[in-house]
Amino acid sequence: MINYTNVILPIPLSKLFTYKITEAEATFLKPGMRVAVEFGKSKIFTALVYNIHNTAPVGYEAKEIYQILDEIPIVNELQLKHWEWIANYYMCSLGEVYRAALPSAFLLESETEIQLVAGFTNEELLSNEEFLIFEALQHQSQLSISKIIEILGKKNVFPIIKTLIEKNTIVVKEQIYEQYKPKLVKYIRLKEPWNTTEKLSELLETLSRAKKQRELILTYFQLQSLKKPIKVTQLQEKALASSAVIKSLIDKDIFEIYFIQKDRINYSGTTSEIKELTTHQQEAYWAIKDTFKTKQVTLLKGITSSGKTEIYVKLIKQLLKDGKQVLYLLPEIALTTQLIERLQYYFGEYLSVFHSKYSMNERVEVWNNVLENKQKAQLILGARSSLFLPFSNLGIVIVDEEHEPSFKQFDPAPRYHARDAAIVLANLHNAKVLLGSATPSVETFYNAQQGKYGLVELNRRFGDVLLPEIELVDVKEKHRKKRMKGHFSDRLLEMIQDALDEKEQVILFQNRRGFAPVVECETCGVSPQCPQCDVSLTFHSFRKELRCHYCGYRQAMPHNCGACGSEKLNTKGFGTEQIEQELEQLFPDAAVGRMDLDTTRGKYGYQKIIGKFEAQEIDILVGTQMLSKGLDFANVSLVGIMSADTMLNFPDFRAHERSYQLMVQVAGRAGRSKKRGKVAIQTYNPYHQILQQVSTNSYLEMFKEQLDERWQYHYPPFYRIIKITLRHKDFIRVDEGANWLGKSLTNIFKDQILGPTTPAISKIRNYYIRHIIIKIPQKQSLGATKANILRVKNTFQAVKQFRSIKLTIDVDNY
Ligand code: ADP
Ligand code: ZN
Ligand code: ZN
Repeated sequence: MINYTNVILPIPLSKLFTYKITEAEATFLKPGMRVAVEFGKSKIFTALVYNIHNTAPVGYEAKEIYQILDEIPIVNELQLKHWEWIANYYMCSLGEVYRAALPSAFLLESETEIQLVAGFTNEELLSNEEFLIFEALQHQSQLSISKIIEILGKKNVFPIIKTLIEKNTIVVKEQIYEQYKPKLVKYIRLKEPWNTTEKLSELLETLSRAKKQRELILTYFQLQSLKKPIKVTQLQEKALASSAVIKSLIDKDIFEIYFIQKDRINYSGTTSEIKELTTHQQEAYWAIKDTFKTKQVTLLKGITSSGKTEIYVKLIKQLLKDGKQVLYLLPEIALTTQLIERLQYYFGEYLSVFHSKYSMNERVEVWNNVLENKQKAQLILGARSSLFLPFSNLGIVIVDEEHEPSFKQFDPAPRYHARDAAIVLANLHNAKVLLGSATPSVETFYNAQQGKYGLVELNRRFGDVLLPEIELVDVKEKHRKKRMKGHFSDRLLEMIQDALDEKEQVILFQNRRGFAPVVECETCGVSPQCPQCDVSLTFHSFRKELRCHYCGYRQAMPHNCGACGSEKLNTKGFGTEQIEQELEQLFPDAAVGRMDLDTTRGKYGYQKIIGKFEAQEIDILVGTQMLSKGLDFANVSLVGIMSADTMLNFPDFRAHERSYQLMVQVAGRAGRSKKRGKVAIQTYNPYHQILQQVSTNSYLEMFKEQLDERWQYHYPPFYRIIKITLRHKDFIRVDEGANWLGKSLTNIFKDQILGPTTPAISKIRNYYIRHIIIKIPQKQSLGATKANILRVKNTFQAVKQFRSIKLTIDVDNY
């Protein structure tokens, strides 16, 4: 009997591939382990075992696997099921899900590069084959695995690479899992028989002539009373002893050194009692528990600063006590130190954070901790990708700021929505889901209204502070009356001055980074364009350059118009940087800070600014929508929205819903603790229904109106949308392809097809873009629809001239 394994390869092909395994391997190998395999021409991949069986593949001869890379499965069965749902629902391959799910350190491929360890000289230790690699690395600073295969003239190079690594000859350039070294910390302890308190006097006796050593022992016992491992450095510092003293005690066999693997991300703090919930919070808490008796998913709709987090905390506490794992999902940007510290304060060593800004090693650590169901991985706080961690025993998933667009992954595949994928994940674990928001997305609130989700509302702020008072400032009128200074109305300036006089802080929101988005020639009206994209370049005054926000292209700010040569170049529109500069002129005594993508790069960029603002080193903080997420500042009394109009006019069916959410969230940063806050919204159109709804806090009215529009124009939640995007560098080819595809789809779906259309930004990075949209009514089978789309797609890709067109499918592209 021959044994086979079906594996998932981290590539877009949707099939599983079959490989041969030996009898011995078959008894050892389990689904969820990684194996090294060859695929295609000399390409090596880290594949994931899907199953093990005895059926030979049809149509090709199965190759043997090269090597088993794990001793235990690193992916569990529930995950595989979840991945299958994602692949199926979002119309991508299991391989793409696999690739997205695992920290990249787990994937070793043909492209992986190896390098020589500097200063390696023990050539005589190397075998012939090993020496060949060593020699090649003398001439080239790095070699890819595929290159090594070429050099050795054989495919199975993993064992050689492995021994070379063991002999400390080479390292893998991109650190891979096999290479992953946990950080070790040096600890010290008393050796037998001295390690009990009863032995203390005897020990001191033996050291009667060594005063320093005796003192060290006493200090050690002091530290030991804390019942924590004692670091060598800690002991040394505390005892003010030299390392010679420690060394002599080690030599006398009294002390010994040992190591503990120390995880890089360590949040052991002292934990603390959770806050007493207010009556309203308590009621909401019970109501949530109650809905969970009959519903899997519940929406907690609580206004800003109502204390939703405190309610989550109480729920989490309960679940941890029951021995369940908890996943707390947040938009990336809301994963601030503020929140992390707050949760650490309650959950200390039970908490791990999973964050895209963490290094590969840190992410591998969290993965392994969850896999082993370690204590410190009982509560995971993370952005959307933490959904893929190897949970085995989830009790609840909390999706905070449920309405946030960043829960949706747009590129690359899987193009999943973390909230929706979380609900499926929870279902697999028989766990509950709590969605939280002050401004739920229309589809979630609709689900709650329809009784699909439970609904619990919390309409009071903590401490009964009133929601901020919102004032709409008509800038058209202000311009007419010449009451504008730069981009500030006299009213907003007055409010800022009042706040500063009271020693309170101000947040100003401008939904654009940079200085002035576009430069325009006053003579001929032309704006400098990105050479690779169909967009105008953005002016950044700090570096005096023009940048493309789509592809990163940059050039120095020109002195003349590229079209007519005129020197009259004007800046149009305005961004955060310009607001910051204007403020510095208007309020020279105030400390102004700016928070946008440009000022928050790097792991701690964001936290630094928040820290300064918290410490009240900044009086006025100017920022983009980064400011709207879950921040809690006690001293902010005024929030100004510089211009509401650009968001309202954004060409998207959700523009109004999004504007409402964004403004209410930003406004919610004002007056969170003591007195009622103030919000000023500058606009050319104060009678816009959304602005009226924001200013009167009328979520329901907004919801009903939006729902009517969705119904009328065939949008979600009444219709599902699948968007197909075609890209090619050749304008004519993409046009022809899109027309062909559009026609074929129209034959099946008739008037459910929209397009092909050319998007507002029709070219990005030299690729021309076309869209086709499919609107699917609720009663139409989603499965059948997708099968039809895939059939058309396959035919399309079989046409020779279309094969080079990049085609992506995005299910629920909103
Ligand atoms: P939300 O998430 O609904 O915007 P938060 O949970 O951030 O609200 O709460 C707002 C503020 O009120 C926070 O500073 C929080 O610590 C405080 N707070 C909320 N509930 C309580 C409570 N029961 N006891 C003490 N402080 C509370
Ligand atoms: Zn560009
Ligand atoms: Zn010009």
